[in-house]
Amino acid sequence: MNVNQEKVKALGLCSGGLDSILAAIVLKKLGIDVEWISFETPFFSADKAKIAAGLVQIPLMVKNITAIYMQMLKNPNCGYGKNMNPCMDCHALMFRLAGEIMAEKGFHFLFSGEVLGQRPMSQTRPSLKYVEKHSGMRGHILRPLSARKLDETIPERKGWVDRSKLYDISGRGRKRQIELAREFGVTDYPAPAGGCLLTDKGYCHRLKDLLAHTDNVSKNELMLLKFGRHFRTPAGTKIIIGRTMEDNENILKYYDPQSDIMMRVNNFPSPTVLVSGSASEGELYLAASMCAGYAKLPEEVSAEVTVAGTKGYKTLLVFPVKPLDIKHLLV
Ligand code: SF4
Repeated sequence: MNVNQEKVKALGLCSGGLDSILAAIVLKKLGIDVEWISFETPFFSADKAKIAAGLVQIPLMVKNITAIYMQMLKNPNCGYGKNMNPCMDCHALMFRLAGEIMAEKGFHFLFSGEVLGQRPMSQTRPSLKYVEKHSGMRGHILRPLSARKLDETIPERKGWVDRSKLYDISGRGRKRQIELAREFGVTDYPAPAGGCLLTDKGYCHRLKDLLAHTDNVSKNELMLLKFGRHFRTPAGTKIIIGRTMEDNENILKYYDPQSDIMMRVNNFPSPTVLVSGSASEGELYLAASMCAGYAKLPEEVSAEVTVAGTKGYKTLLVFPVKPLDIKHLLV
């Protein structure tokens, strides 16, 4: 198991789910030093991986990969799943980036908790092979839970890991993982991974609209897609209207003070409204009327709307527009 007397180190891709935890424990039990990496973008976070790392005391690196991810997302080799989820190329990219860290930090191989046949798209045998090939990490990725169902990898061939001590789990059932968790004394772990916004129909609809109207999408614009109602004017200006207090707070958190315009109705409970891009005067009035339309105003009352832009503040006097009348602008 020793490589010239030095301890074998493996870097695992961690989603934070039970399978990630089990894979790491299997290797730890074989005397391997394990660490985890988890990647973040506005579409998925490393939050569950952080919880798992705390629970099982495995060092975790977290890396934000939004810029490189966006390049892949615009044109993934294997296309998309049901929504805008490019699962195969997403995995290939993550393993490629993990491979770079492996080389840089002196890890001997990569591992993951993937289980053959567990997910219809990304964990079939051809998918796992595609990821190995396109990440440039062929032979370097060990999947301890399914290893005995898969081709032998370099760490097994080199004797760093005893293949006979690895598992042959496959399929969608969870029974064997639950048994292993019991055997390893793992009682606490985050709920199954998931929560990737690229599998969310509504989010992806807004994302497509954003990509169609914006050349260089910023992280904040991607974050804003999660909050509020989104409208697109015929001239292409985006208007976002908070639905809840949380939306309003997040719109304020992610707006760009260098270019965005913010609005609120004076003296009445009002949503926060963000107008992005170079809005015309007419569009500002439209956005202010929409803001008033979603505010809690007495019927048929004109409203003063404070507009905060890059050039300072101004007040617009508008009549509220009914939400039904702007439904066609909804993204
Ligand atoms: S669900 Fe999202 S994070 Fe998971 S592989 Fe697919 S695109 Fe990547």
